[in-house]
This record gives sequence, structure tokens and C-alpha cells, in this order.
Amino acid sequence: MSGPVRILVSSCLLGEKVRYDGGHKRDPFLVDTLGQFVEYVPVCPEVECGLPTPREAMHLVGNPADPHLVAIKTDADCTGRMKRWAHGKLSELEGLELCGYICKKGSPSSGMERVPVYGGSGIPSRVGAGMFTKAFMERFPLIPVEEEGRLRNPDLRERFVVRMFTLRRFRDAIRRGRARGTLVEFHTSHKLLLLAHGRPLYAEMGKLVARAKELPLEELYRRYQRLLLEALRRRATPARCADALLHAMGYLRPLLSPDEKRELLEAIEQHRNRLTPLVVPVTLTRHYARKFDVVYLNRQAFLNPHPVERMLQNHV
Ligand code: SF4
Repeated sequence: MSGPVRILVSSCLLGEKVRYDGGHKRDPFLVDTLGQFVEYVPVCPEVECGLPTPREAMHLVGNPADPHLVAIKTDADCTGRMKRWAHGKLSELEGLELCGYICKKGSPSSGMERVPVYGGSGIPSRVGAGMFTKAFMERFPLIPVEEEGRLRNPDLRERFVVRMFTLRRFRDAIRRGRARGTLVEFHTSHKLLLLAHGRPLYAEMGKLVARAKELPLEELYRRYQRLLLEALRRRATPARCADALLHAMGYLRPLLSPDEKRELLEAIEQHRNRLTPLVVPVTLTRHYARKFDVVYLNRQAFLNPHPVERMLQNHV
């Protein structure tokens, strides 16, 4: 990869003492593991919009679709201040080529979902996003966003890691120069990965690539990126991964001995039935692809992710 995997992250998760009570919420996985391989851009919306530390705790109040950010004890309304700052901050982030955003769960400024919004009855409805994160997701709807707690779930973490690394690879392809050939190359090398996330969007992307010459390059890349990130949002279920691996096995069949075929098929079906992790049939397929020098398979991102991407996917 030529560019950094740059991730926006809530500052308190990195151990910075920026919380309303002067404390932090250091997350060991983010700091000690992920932090070795990505470039963090820390953000604390409450401090950066001009509030002191320590400060009064805040919550969201009013209409869940457009709530106010209000101090719990004094009722001081910080909505205007936060929105003005967020507007400028988002423009600043525009040029950073962010590959993801990891935010603090439950925060009225930074939470991604189910942040309590208090109505007139005093009973919260858990339907909101924190004020800054909501604005971020509206401005950058395609950039993967996750909360630190959800990243402890292996499935969600794997999906987030794959999305951020794929976005980086796509941006690297753009850096090499927008050209129809480059897009076809990218699409071809991501075929197995896309199949593992579901056929319908893969088919739609294939149609888009096939009519590449009919669209201006800018428009072509914009549409492709939208479909790419939408496709990766879907879960790569064991059944879909097994189907993608069977597709790969089609390239190996003429080269494998009956015993090797049986062994590979068994590993794929065991994964389909959730008896083995994905890494088992993927490693075996990669081994045969290298042994028999099957160029098409050796170029597949699904079989050959970046070593860091592979390590993070399998990190428990
Ligand atoms: S949750 Fe967000 S606003 Fe609150 S301290 Fe952390 S980074 Fe700052």
C-alpha cells in the first residue's frame, strides 16, 4: 500500500484525559494492537469546540432527528458551538483520505448509535448518534465507522478491518491514476472478496465495469466506490466464503491430485458448516495457488490480504 491507513479516533480512547470528569477511556486493542499499524487522527469534539476539562456532563435532548446538546445540571445549550466547530472540522478532514472512524460508544458527541436522547417525559429513547459523529456520517457516508466496544466482536472487527484496508487499496489505485484499465484490474483482484460479501452487488459492479467506456471517469469511480463500500458492509457469511472458495477451487481442479482436491473440499465445507475458521481453507487455497503459480488467484485480495490486515482479522 502506498498511503497510510488513516483512522479518525475519539481521543479519550487513546488514553488522553479529555473526558468531562478529567479521565480517559483507553482501549488496549486500539492503542497496543491496531495503533501499531494505522495512523490515528485523534478528535475530541467537546474539547475542540472549546469546552474545558473537566466540564459538566452533557446529554442529548429533544427531537431525536435533530436533538440539542445540553449540559445536564445547568441546562447550558452547546448545540450551536458544537455544530459550528463540526462544520469546520469536517472540511478539514475532507483531504485526509480517512479509511475509517472509531468512536466512543454512548457519548452525546461521539457515539455512533443508540445514544440516549431525552424527551419531555425524561425517558430516553435510544435512537440517536452523537452530534459530531452524526455530522461525520452525513458528510462521509461511505467511510466505515465503528464504536470501540463493537470492535471486540470478531465478526464486526473483521468487517471493519476489511473495509478500511480495501478502501486504502482503492485509494491507492486512484493515486496511480484514474483509468478504466486500473478499475478493471482492481475489480478483478477483488472478485473473491466481493463474492464472499454477496453476489448481487458483485454482479452490479461487474455491469458497471463492463460499461466503463460509457461513463466519464470521475462518475465511474464515484459509482464504483459507492457499490464497493456498500458491498463490504454486508457480512461475509461462512456460506458465501465457502462459495467464493469453491469458485477459486475451479482454477485449481486440473492441477490438484485427487487427495489434494478432497482435502481442500473438506476444509471448505467444514468452514461452511462453521467447524473451522476461514483462515484454514484460505491458507490451503493460497498454498496451492502459490505452488502451481496460478496468477489469477495469487492476485486475489481475499486470499492475499496485506499481512497486517490478515493479522488483525485473526486477532482474538
Ligand atoms: S467521548 Fe468524544 S467528546 Fe467525550 S471525551 Fe471522548 S472524544 Fe471527547
